[in-house]
Order: sequence, then structure tokens, then C-alpha cells
Amino acid sequence: MKGSTHLAIGCAVGAAAVGYHSFNVSNSLVYIAAAAISSLCPDLDGPSMLSSRISKASRTLYRSLITLAVLMTLLLIYLYAQYRIFHPELTAATLCAILPSLILKEGVIRNTLVSLVGAAVAGAGLLPGMTWLSGFGIFVMIAPWLKHRGMTHTIWALLIWYLLSQGMERQLGIDGIALTAAAGYASHLVADTLTSSGVKWLYPLSRITFKLPFRR
Ligand SMILES: [Zn+2]
Repeated sequence: MKGSTHLAIGCAVGAAAVGYHSFNVSNSLVYIAAAAISSLCPDLDGPSMLSSRISKASRTLYRSLITLAVLMTLLLIYLYAQYRIFHPELTAATLCAILPSLILKEGVIRNTLVSLVGAAVAGAGLLPGMTWLSGFGIFVMIAPWLKHRGMTHTIWALLIWYLLSQGMERQLGIDGIALTAAAGYASHLVADTLTSSGVKWLYPLSRITFKLPFRR
């Protein structure tokens, strides 16, 4: 399944969470970002998932995310240059926004870049009370080197994602953000289950592939 499709579903999950929880603008963005990023991260493992044949709407969505990443980077540089302020949270968020562009590429260089971003996020998580961020960083560091649709596409990875998101929820104090992120991650696995290759939800415990029975 294409990354743009996953991203679109993830944004829809985030929008649903916004509808349920909050109409506060900054919180709304966090819900949508959490679900959208979570819906992409399972495919940090695989080869390029954003093929050239993506729809116009998805392309717009994808470009918006990259634009957001660039704007956030500029804001970080401005804050530091002007006021000598360093924002660990904003830095981590920026790195997360950069991730989708790295997913475009494949190969050892791409994997190394993704791992470096993961290491930076893990490092930012060393600040007090941000262990959850280190957890996400370690996930991003390891994922590129795993077999495609392997460990990241399991119920265990989903569980880890939910537990890390709970740490994030405690820190941000935004109700239901953990469940929103987990729903974003789950939406990816469900969408992949609907494809012909299916998903090994219980790997490595069981190698059964779950997929739609009427598809080859
Ligand atoms: Zn996938």
C-alpha cells in the first residue's frame, strides 16, 4: 500500500480525534500530526513506499508536511539566532516532520539517515521526563534495518507504540493523544491487511499472514 494512502488515512484518524476531543487549534494540530506520523512509521522498515503514481490530493498533503518541516526548521534557527532559545520539543517535532521525506528514498544512505534522525530524537529524549521520546527515537533507529512488513507490522509494535504514546500524553497533557497515535499506527496495519501481501500480525510468534481471503 502506498505511503500517501496511509498518510491520508492517518490524517482522517487525526481529524476524527479532533472532532471527538478538541477544537482548540494547537491541540488539533497535535492530534492530526500524531495520527499522521504514526500512520507512516510502520513503513520506515521498507523500501520506498511513496511511488510516483500518487493522487493529487495525497501529493498536496505530502508537500504540506514537507513545507511544515521546512518552516519549523526556519523557526528553530530564528529562535536560536535571535534569542538563543533551544526548543527540544520543537526540534523533535521538526525531525518527525522531516521523516516522510526520508521515506521517499531507499537504500543504505536512506537507512543511515533515518537512523541518524532516530538517534537525534533519542538524544533529545534524554532530557528529564522524556523517556518516551527516546523510545520513539530508538524505534526509528532500528526500523530501517528490519525486513519489510516484519516486526514493525505486528501487534507487538503497535503495543510498544501505544505505551510510548502514553508517555507523550502524560507530558503534553492532551487527552486521548496516546489512543490517537495508536489508532494512526493501527490504521496502517489494517490497511496493509487489506492488500494482497497481507500482514503477519503475530510475527515471529506465528507466521500466519492475515489478508483479505478473496484476494490473491
Ligand atoms: Zn506497511
